[in-house]
Amino acid sequence: MSWHRFKKKLNDEFNLKKQADELGLKVWQTPSFLFIAMGLVIVIAIGGVYFVSNNYDSPEILVISESAVVAVLFSIGNLIISSVDQLARANKMKTEFVSVASHQLKTPIAEINWQIELLLSKFPGGLSEKQQLLIGQIAHSSQKMARLVNDLLDVAHIDQGKLALAKEDVDLCIVVKEAIINQHPFAISAGVEIKSFCPLTSPNVSVDRKRVGVVLDNLLSNAIKYTKREGTVEIFFETKGNAVQVHVRDDGVGIPSREQHDIFKKFFRSNNSMKNNTDGTGLGLYIAKNIIEQSGGKLWFQSIENIGSDFFFSLPTIKKLT
Ligand code: ADP
Repeated sequence: MSWHRFKKKLNDEFNLKKQADELGLKVWQTPSFLFIAMGLVIVIAIGGVYFVSNNYDSPEILVISESAVVAVLFSIGNLIISSVDQLARANKMKTEFVSVASHQLKTPIAEINWQIELLLSKFPGGLSEKQQLLIGQIAHSSQKMARLVNDLLDVAHIDQGKLALAKEDVDLCIVVKEAIINQHPFAISAGVEIKSFCPLTSPNVSVDRKRVGVVLDNLLSNAIKYTKREGTVEIFFETKGNAVQVHVRDDGVGIPSREQHDIFKKFFRSNNSMKNNTDGTGLGLYIAKNIIEQSGGKLWFQSIENIGSDFFFSLPTIKKLT
């Protein structure tokens, strides 16, 4: 852990007001406060019992003083347990709310998209340029909304431990090619070239094809988004024992080193992405990492600011496709 990170962690741990605001608790209910209080009580209790045992011969007084110490420790322990319980319940309710709300939002958004398509197909030549432009903007916004709702639903499923994977045996090269086709229009409009290299022997894996497609879509769309015009994105494979490693490498803006440890946190977006005004939710990498880890693999990255990033994931290979 770097000194900068250690200092930040120490600051966060002992900033009781900040912790209370973040957790929605009173200062005296925060875990750090209770931890400090418990430490103080233990020190005072040891001193007190020592004092009593030195100054009073009566075993009754000793028993009473020890019982009082145990009672205080029990009460603090109880407070800690109830604040953890409160947090766990609030967290569960929040995840359930996000899950239900995003599920309910899916249908009206799908209806909007469907009605836009209907509108465009009903009046193919009849719409003015201005009308077409406005409908295009509505379509773009509703697609953004659909993406956000899908991401939120995936996050809720991950947090509830309910992300179901329908595994099948596939050639990973085919999944990569499909993802490149999906992202091709964005690469063209961003002026970014995508180069891909598939190995001679197919890397066969047993995964949820759609979900790994989502991982590749996320990594590729990030690589395109965070690369300037005339940049290049490369996708290539490496064999590592019984696993295959897929790299999505770009020569884009990169990620500042002080922000790299936050990159897989929910809703995190680096200063670079804010500065360049790119669209995004900060959920793509969190979802991708969880999908890969649940598929038995690992996802990680290397990045240098203003040089580029290399995101890569590994998956266990299987011998043959069934
Ligand atoms: P977003 O929707 O913001 O792209 P992600 O979870 O996919 O969310 O990525 C989180 C953040 O990580 C991004 O906002 C960006 O700051 C950074 N990031 C991800 N991929 C890259 C990349 N290839 N190059 C530079 N920064 C990246």
